[in-house]
Amino acid sequence: MPVTIDLKDAETRDALAARAVSRAPGEKPSLIGMSREEMGEALGEAGVKDRQIKMRVQQLWHWLYVRGVSDFAQMLNVSKDLRATLDERYTIARPEIVDEQISADGTRKWLLRFPPRGAGKPVEIETVYIPEEGRGTLCISSQVGCTLTCSFCHTGTQKLVRNLTAEEILSQLLLARDRLGDFPDKDTPQGAIVPGEGRKVSNIVMMGMGEPLYNFDNVKKALLIASDNEGLSLSRRRITLSTSGVVPEIYRTGEEIGVMLAISLHAVRDELRNELVPINKKYPIETLMQACRDYPGLSNARRITFEYVMLKGVNDSLEDARDLVRLLKGIPAKINLIPFNPWPGSAYECSDWEQIEVFADFINQAGYASPIRTPRGRDILAACGQLKSESERLRKSERLALEAMMIAGHGEA
Ligand code: SF4
Repeated sequence: MPVTIDLKDAETRDALAARAVSRAPGEKPSLIGMSREEMGEALGEAGVKDRQIKMRVQQLWHWLYVRGVSDFAQMLNVSKDLRATLDERYTIARPEIVDEQISADGTRKWLLRFPPRGAGKPVEIETVYIPEEGRGTLCISSQVGCTLTCSFCHTGTQKLVRNLTAEEILSQLLLARDRLGDFPDKDTPQGAIVPGEGRKVSNIVMMGMGEPLYNFDNVKKALLIASDNEGLSLSRRRITLSTSGVVPEIYRTGEEIGVMLAISLHAVRDELRNELVPINKKYPIETLMQACRDYPGLSNARRITFEYVMLKGVNDSLEDARDLVRLLKGIPAKINLIPFNPWPGSAYECSDWEQIEVFADFINQAGYASPIRTPRGRDILAACGQLKSESERLRKSERLALEAMMIAGHGEA
């Protein structure tokens, strides 16, 4: 039986987050996802002398996050004895890849399996890589399932199984870089579609499954490591966190993480947003917009992305477009228009293409960039239905929901 928990308040969420890191007896903790201080403590427990700890942490950090090794044996400047001791106590292995699919347009999707960690059984999540001209974006999940019930989103029908740990969040990035040959001395697979120059994974978006701000501590820890200058070194301007509008944690994101922000807006009036994105009942549009206005460091070069799924006859009128422009006044913003990807049983239809263009033109003329998202990796989505039905871990509806969120997505960096 899957363990499902409804999270209504911060206390319960924190309890779950704590439970998420509990390990099965015999399961070795991972050094991936530890802060430098925690890694220092781990080394101390492994017998490294106090005066050597700082230097050893630097070495490990370099091997893990610059060189991308996943085996202690590859850490050539660490003594053999210490490597053996670390290997006995800790792991740096990548997660299990259950499946990897590659679309004709170069989009890649990995189905990854993580240990139960209090959830009763192993959990599976998907990570999606989307190559484009000049950049490669990795869409990362933060939770298995979601506590929120956005009515246009299939994931909302799957209750939360558990939060992902910082290690599991970060592992999605490490694994993608492995598979794409994005670490020094690693080869890019033949025929892979990747940006012509620079990093293969140049941007990450916390837009996969789940609400990242309901797993704040783990997301923060993982993103601080991803942006650490002496390691993975991804600029915070190339990391986007997408939220449905957990207002208190938006303030914390600005102060404590400092990454780019995306908001799943989808409606410009509270009545409709209460239905589409029910967290709006707790944090209505006005409160959300104030948090956006207060977000630190905004400028024309650092804009908030507002995601807006186009639902026929629901939120796609010219009046909606006008209200949207009014609502965003004074906020450096861009608007991602997402053609709705219908799923079985969904109550909505995608807006007509002409209507999407009329809507986009109005917003453009008001001075906002409003790209219409082209769905990516459709061919592997089709094949994926098969894959889902074979899995006992996630129900078909759960996988479909995940795909819909990742590909139709919460926004882009
Ligand atoms: S849109 Fe995001 S926050 Fe809302 S139910 Fe789906 S995954 Fe959860």
